[in-house]
Amino acid sequence: MALNGLDINTLDDVEVACLVYALYKRTQQRKEKKKIVTNRRWWVHPLNLKRPQEGQFKVTFSVLRQYPEEFFKYFRMSIPSFDNLLTTVGEHVRKQNTVFRLSIPPEERLAATLSNDCFSEVSSVSAELYTCSGSYTGECIKFLQFQAESLGLPSKIYYMAPKKPVVIITLQGCKPELQSLLLTSHMDVVPVYPEKWTYDPFSAYKDAQGNIYARGAQDMKCVGIQYLETIRRYKNNNLIFDRTIHVSFMPDEEIGGILGMAYFVKTDEFRSLNIGFTLDEGLATIDDVIPLYYGERTIWQFYIRSTGISGHASLLHDNTAAEKLIFVVNKILDWRTEEKLKLSQGMDIGEITSVNMTMLDGGCQLNIVPQELSAGFDVRLDIGTDRRAMEDIITGWCHEAGDGIRMEVFKTNEQTTPTKLDDSNPWWLKFKSECDKMKIKLKPSICPAAGDSRYIRLIGIPALGFSPMMYTPVLLHDHDEYLNENTFLNGINIYYNIIKGLATA
Ligand SMILES: [Zn+2]
Repeated sequence: MALNGLDINTLDDVEVACLVYALYKRTQQRKEKKKIVTNRRWWVHPLNLKRPQEGQFKVTFSVLRQYPEEFFKYFRMSIPSFDNLLTTVGEHVRKQNTVFRLSIPPEERLAATLSNDCFSEVSSVSAELYTCSGSYTGECIKFLQFQAESLGLPSKIYYMAPKKPVVIITLQGCKPELQSLLLTSHMDVVPVYPEKWTYDPFSAYKDAQGNIYARGAQDMKCVGIQYLETIRRYKNNNLIFDRTIHVSFMPDEEIGGILGMAYFVKTDEFRSLNIGFTLDEGLATIDDVIPLYYGERTIWQFYIRSTGISGHASLLHDNTAAEKLIFVVNKILDWRTEEKLKLSQGMDIGEITSVNMTMLDGGCQLNIVPQELSAGFDVRLDIGTDRRAMEDIITGWCHEAGDGIRMEVFKTNEQTTPTKLDDSNPWWLKFKSECDKMKIKLKPSICPAAGDSRYIRLIGIPALGFSPMMYTPVLLHDHDEYLNENTFLNGINIYYNIIKGLATA
């Protein structure tokens, strides 16, 4: 995305988030600076007293609004775009006026952010996100098309939305009526803190031990390229299989896949691929036992919102928001303690429910009993816990706490049925028999996080998450993510047998 000439109408949620982030960072930096300057001569500098009437913003902004072209040059957006953006982010950056001091209005905050050095910060955050999740440059697509051409295979690009391409490379089978095999990977990566890396995270630096450092080295550019290199070997060996193999490169997995796999599985294009089974990513393992993910937990995020009697904090009111909120919070944290106990008893994190209080909100001043307080939770339900039943329990706790307290679900995923690892699933039997032949040790597990496979399983297609990365520390989303070249190359040998087995009817 070119931020020069930025048009609010084309901003997506990520871009708006970048702007809000830049405004937030600016506020934080100001707070930091203020901490350093302790000996104030003025509470409000005399110059600033004139700001509302004579300040640079007041003068420049009102004049610029009379000259739309100049306005565009100055802010890199049109007047309607600016107004539109202000509507979107204004309330997020509004500060309270006090009797001592008027706060800087959102309009001025936004103008300052767009017109000065903070804008470069927006650009850098955006640049990070755009090489990561968000939108996909032509370079990435060109690279994949080049790979397809070098393999002599057709490639197709489907757009789930503007800037959200799905790339499919296909090796046609000789019995196209059979269900096909999908090898999926995602194109996006999560952002980096470059200063925390030993080597440039986007340089794929290989050290003397053969460790290749790169964001995405484990998650999961390795797997996508291993799929392609496996197919290259089949081509070199003139192998043709019964089943068609599709290799997909998906957008947005790291930000939930809403405009990626979640959308793609609902399209006619996806249905036309006639997929019977999917291989997706897994995790590295420090020993020689590779986790095999056959299901995932269900994300469930909600708030507990409590309202009560407000008033002077010198009194002891009945029915306060805090008392009721704490009652329910404690019940939920007791649930957390039970789950933690299972962890200490040796169960895997994927097998149990994680419960975390991640937000607390409310109150306006220390001497006022607040009218409303809320707590936010992120829960990942294990495959055996029914969300609706749990929702009833929490709603019951809210009733127990009293009137004016309720649960508000922010986000939930549909619970998926795990892929069967038994004789009823011929794909699993093939997968397992190839692994057995290579003496690969597998640990069937429920994935603690949720990836693209969940959307595949939701429509009833079996999917397994597997990344052949043995003797490798788990470094996905971490600093200094790396993969050893021998592990990478050995992975191609492993895929060679597994994919051949799966593609042979
Ligand atoms: Zn991934």
